[in-house]
Amino acid sequence: MGFTSILGFAQQLIRQSVQPNDIVVDATLGTGNDALFLLSQLNKKGLLFGFDVQKDAILRTKSRLSSNITSTILSPFVLFHESHANWQYRIPQHYCGKIGAVMFNLGYLPNGENDNIITETHSTITALQTACHWIRPNGIITIVVYPGHYGGRHESEHVFNWCSSLDQNEFHVLRYQLCNKHDHSPFLLAIKKI
Ligand code: SAM
Repeated sequence: MGFTSILGFAQQLIRQSVQPNDIVVDATLGTGNDALFLLSQLNKKGLLFGFDVQKDAILRTKSRLSSNITSTILSPFVLFHESHANWQYRIPQHYCGKIGAVMFNLGYLPNGENDNIITETHSTITALQTACHWIRPNGIITIVVYPGHYGGRHESEHVFNWCSSLDQNEFHVLRYQLCNKHDHSPFLLAIKKI
């Protein structure tokens, strides 16, 4: 399998799981790169929901998706300027148990106005619990975790421990880190529902 980065590896895992008519979620929209990737995996019957707490991220994602709308994007998308912790108030209940893939890319918005706006342990774990409840059998959750920035180590340890506590009869959890890297290098957690 050829991949050069942890983000590329997350995409590779998503590609292997997602069906073209799936419902998918980008839990941390940021620049819209992951949202564009997710949408590129879907057909007209697919649907993407996205979350970010920063208006700037919503605008950047909208702009990125709009400029690709004819080439790569066929399926509809709904973006929420909202914390992913409030997922269950935003995504209609009838999608519960039908979500094919969820991407979390934790940390802060690259080149954003405020590097202090980061994903926080409590809301991240709340959203992960919801995601685990809402994905379908064989659905996947990828979490790219950055221990290197301020607050990142605390969040990464909690997320890792929380993933390790999942029921192994219900979920497979995998951890990937590129070799020859340091403790603060990003790593990938993947949760697959059995
Ligand atoms: N997926 C993005 C991309 O493709 O560019 C990168 C995401 S960036 C590393 C992390 C994002 O998480 C930031 O834009 C930040 O505003 C957002 N964020 C922080 N807390 C959040 C929350 N509670 N709910 C949703 N998004 C949040």
